[in-house]
This record gives sequence, structure tokens and C-alpha cells, in this order.
Amino acid sequence: GAGESSLFLLWWDLILLRVGLTGGIASGKTTVSKLLIKNGIPVIDSDIIARDLVKPGTEALSEIVVALGADVLALDGSLDRGRVGEGVFGDESSRLALENILPPRIKVEQDRWLDARESEGESSVAVVDAALMIESGGWRRFDLLVVVACCEEEQLARTLSRGGLSEEAVRARIASQIPLADKVKYADRVVDNSGTLDELTKEVEALVAWLLEKARE
Ligand code: ATP
Repeated sequence: GAGESSLFLLWWDLILLRVGLTGGIASGKTTVSKLLIKNGIPVIDSDIIARDLVKPGTEALSEIVVALGADVLALDGSLDRGRVGEGVFGDESSRLALENILPPRIKVEQDRWLDARESEGESSVAVVDAALMIESGGWRRFDLLVVVACCEEEQLARTLSRGGLSEEAVRARIASQIPLADKVKYADRVVDNSGTLDELTKEVEALVAWLLEKARE
């Protein structure tokens, strides 16, 4: 009856456009996320999800200690992410063990966050920022995928200017990820971050207009 169809329309109105945002090391995901938020689009940073998941006392942290050894703990009992990176880097069995612990839980939390945005209904679009969603296959769950890209030399320069890693270490990390030139092939839209921050701001404004248009379709 009429009641049922208006209920259907109400439900239809509230469908959320679920967008994945990815890229490579220092390609500009965090910068793009901040610009999206400024433009009123909710964004969740999966790195923050991951940090919360491994807080002292969590199930994920105990599983990581069992898999990688107590060396990955800092003196205060928190996870030393640098040591995890070193332990996993170049060690296939540790890497696989970690992949079974964190990514599945991260996906659950991303979906929970998206569901919450959908029931809240304040935005027609919500964005999940995650560095490795193409590598993990997680990108397939999203309605649209946005890739932030720049050239490898810019990735290198931007990572080095953040400090903490040698050029060799940065090059090894870049080499361990799927190259950006290949990631863009998965993208419904590429944000080019090889220019200035002003140019990026304009790119993101165009992205927002495009996303809102897609959400109306
Ligand atoms: P990661 O996943 O490695 O943490 P990311 O993809 O989130 O990196 P950002 O943190 O946004 O990348 O950018 C990396 C660094 O490069 C930051 O210090 C940022 O301020 C700087 N940066 C990003 N885009 C530009 C740009 N267009 N011009 C100059 N600096 C930039």
C-alpha cells in the first residue's frame, strides 16, 4: 500500500555512498582526508582504528605477541609499531600471521563506522582512508574507490622530509607496496597530488562535487 512505498522511499533516501580512499606511502591520503573533512565529508583513518585495536589489554595485542614475540612490546606494555614493522618486514611468516590478526578486525570496524554514518544520515557520502586496501582486497567492499597518486620520487621526498627513515628503508617500503601506477587502475577516480597543496585543494573540491553527484545517482 501507500504506507509501504513511502517507507521504501525513506529507506532509499538514506543509502550511504561508501567510498574507499587509498594511495601509497606519503602519496597524500591524510592531506586529502583533512580536506574532505573541511568540505563536510566524514572520513575515518584506518591507522587510528588499527592503533585502537592494539591498545594494551586487547585481544589483537595478545595475538600479535603470541605470533611475533614479546620483543614487539614497549616498556609500558604498548605495541612498538616500529618493531612490528621491522619484525614483519622481510619475514614472510610473521607478515602472514599479522595479516590474519589485524586486517579482518580493521574491516569490521570500518563497516561498523560506515553503518553508523548511514543510520545517522547526516551525510550521503562517507570515506574510509586505508593505506593497503588494494593489497588486502578490502577495496572491493566499497561503492567507489579513490586513489591519491603522485610519482615515486615525490613519495620518497615527502617520506624523507617527515624524517625517521633512511632513503634505502623508504625505497624498500615503496617497493613492498603495489606501485601507485598499478593502483590507479583500480580507481574510479584518481586524485593527482603531484602538484602544490593549492592544486590539491582544488582537486579535492572537484572530488567532493563528484562524490555528492554520485550519491544522488
Ligand atoms: P602515509 O600513509 O605514508 O602516512 P599519506 O599518504 O597519508 O602518508 P600525507 O601524510 O598526506 O600522506 O603526506 C605525506 C607528507 O607530504 C606530509 O608531510 C604532507 O604534509 C606532505 N604533502 C602531501 N601533499 C603535498 C603536496 N601536494 N605538496 C607538498 N607536500 C605535500
